[in-house]
Amino acid sequence: MSNASIDSLIKQFAKLPGIGPRSARRIVLQLIRKKDQLMLPLIEVMQSAAEHIVTCPVCGNLDTQTPCSICDDPRRDDSILCVVEELADLWAIERSKLFNGRFHVLGGTLSAIDGRSPQTLNIPSLIDRASDERVKEVILATNATVEGQTTAHYLTEKLSDCNVSVSRLAQGIPIGGELDYLDDGTLGAALKARQIF
Ligand code: ZN
Repeated sequence: MSNASIDSLIKQFAKLPGIGPRSARRIVLQLIRKKDQLMLPLIEVMQSAAEHIVTCPVCGNLDTQTPCSICDDPRRDDSILCVVEELADLWAIERSKLFNGRFHVLGGTLSAIDGRSPQTLNIPSLIDRASDERVKEVILATNATVEGQTTAHYLTEKLSDCNVSVSRLAQGIPIGGELDYLDDGTLGAALKARQIF
């Protein structure tokens, strides 16, 4: 492997969230040193993920099947819909094992500065789903950040025309806190103590 290809490998890893150039160099060194145990299996799983993982057209989850295994699971409660900003938040709530309804992934928050409007997020499809008569409650599980709160306020207004109760995660979420960083207990408490508007 030439220096150029090592460099481009390092550059690719350094683009990943939470990995700076130093970590990227260490990762690449390990991969090269442990080609059979690390690099080749990684190539294999990444190739397979790239080929088979698709976005669920219903909820925005990622899965190898459409609709995803959560939307497709008949044991889950159709009457309650949990709205999250990102997939990592869905995973965080799934890890808590305290929620048995359906999800809706917005794909971000509203932000005039960054040009994210309701049309660029999965909001129209949320309104569609919330208009289904089986849905009785929508939990707005956006982050306790300014953008998360702004998005929740906007959604509360939009959902007022649908025949659903709208609730928010309550105590336990620190101001500025992101769901993905919370421990399962805190997240579970916030989910249980949600408030209906
Ligand atoms: Zn789905």
